[in-house]
Amino acid sequence: MSNADESFRDSISTITKDGKRAWIYPKKPKGKFYDRRKWVSYLLLTILILSPFIKINGNQLFLFNVIERRFNLFGIAFWPQDFYLVVITLIIGVIFVALFTTAFGRIFCGWICPQTIFMEMVFRRIEYWIDGDRGAQIKLDKQEWNAEKWRKRLVKWAIFFLISFGIANVFLAYLIGSDVVLEFITHSPFEHLSTFIALLIFTAVFYFVFVWFREQVCVIACPYGRLQGVLLDEKSIVVAYDYKRGEKQNGRAKFKKNVNREVEGVGDCIDCAQCVHVCPTGIDIRNGTQLECVNCTACIDACDAMMEAVNLPKGLIRYASEEEISKNKKFVFTARMKGYLAVLLILCGVLTGLLFLRSDVEAKILRLPGQLYERKGEVISNVFTYKIANKTHNHYENVKMKLISPPGKLITVGKDTISILPNTQDLGTMFIEIHPKDLDGDKTDVIIEVYNNNELIDKTKTTFIGPRAF
Ligand code: SF4
Ligand code: SF4
Repeated sequence: MSNADESFRDSISTITKDGKRAWIYPKKPKGKFYDRRKWVSYLLLTILILSPFIKINGNQLFLFNVIERRFNLFGIAFWPQDFYLVVITLIIGVIFVALFTTAFGRIFCGWICPQTIFMEMVFRRIEYWIDGDRGAQIKLDKQEWNAEKWRKRLVKWAIFFLISFGIANVFLAYLIGSDVVLEFITHSPFEHLSTFIALLIFTAVFYFVFVWFREQVCVIACPYGRLQGVLLDEKSIVVAYDYKRGEKQNGRAKFKKNVNREVEGVGDCIDCAQCVHVCPTGIDIRNGTQLECVNCTACIDACDAMMEAVNLPKGLIRYASEEEISKNKKFVFTARMKGYLAVLLILCGVLTGLLFLRSDVEAKILRLPGQLYERKGEVISNVFTYKIANKTHNHYENVKMKLISPPGKLITVGKDTISILPNTQDLGTMFIEIHPKDLDGDKTDVIIEVYNNNELIDKTKTTFIGPRAF
């Protein structure tokens, strides 16, 4: 690690000594990495905003309707019956993130995380546009509430509120479906008051996060940030300060014209503090890898610009592992990474197999709780409840269940055929009647096939209870 003072570990850069919030005014980033991040953010914002409005076979691309327990991933509808698939998908997601973090540190935070993208690429850029860069923001904050300050603050808060309201609408479209949100937009809010209140609450949360809470999400609230200490090791690639080059034998030193730094034994760091001023979490990367660093690359751009200005090689702050800096070792794919990758590939294989095996229609037949059997003349009768889920976008209009084995009769209560609308399920009651001679004792396995217009769409089984004596 660097030879910097270790006292930075005893405090958080965003909290003052007397426990108050130390507001961060990051300098506007500029450079190669910032430009690349801008393009990535345009792409991700487009995907995030448009995804709820894209449909595949009538299914919204992504839907997380917790209330109705309906989930769509990549246009595939998952039902509560498919919950094991959602769990496997989530586990794959967690292992994927763990693998990436072990290999490439918090690259996710800097480039992909919606919090960073909205904060740095949307809200912060509007702030630079209205309030100006770091110096102007500090000055504006300190100045009295005159006309200029009121105008700038009101314009900024109004724009931030509108964007938060827009994000809340998109968020709602992921939760209750874009069709429902679009329909609600065309009606008075009082017709759907509970949804409108939920929308206002989401808006208030987003507004609070992006206007006030900001980097505190990454520093103190994000659980993923807390995992860094476990996942990172000295082989992980992170945004790192090359302290060997930056400090050399006699430490960092301000830039002076006509001074030979080699002869003086000072490092390439000219102690300009640009990497600190540009940091959105207010840390000094020269103190080494820290939990607060979201790998946003702003300090890389800032330092490269300084190095260029004083004619020194770029890359004093760069993507590098601790091992690369201390021992000049290049990146290696470690045994831990190979282990994560192997588990990831196995789970992806299992998920693909299960997705192929998953049926479009799923029938579940359960005996009515508390009921045993009933004699009806020569036959034994059991009463069941059935649930047939139609996970497709087709309307199954003429669904019938047939008892395949043992021989007997299946009677659905109240209807001859069943009609099931797309992405819905039908629930009902039915009787099965079997002659005692066809039973295997007190418990007999019963096989039932489900047909739509004589086309087999599912097969299921249940247990039939009969008297012990037979
Ligand atoms: S230390 Fe650098 S990479 Fe880390 S958050 Fe600050 S500016 Fe971004
Ligand atoms: S920007 Fe580079 S040169 Fe300036 S203080 Fe940071 S590490 Fe040193």
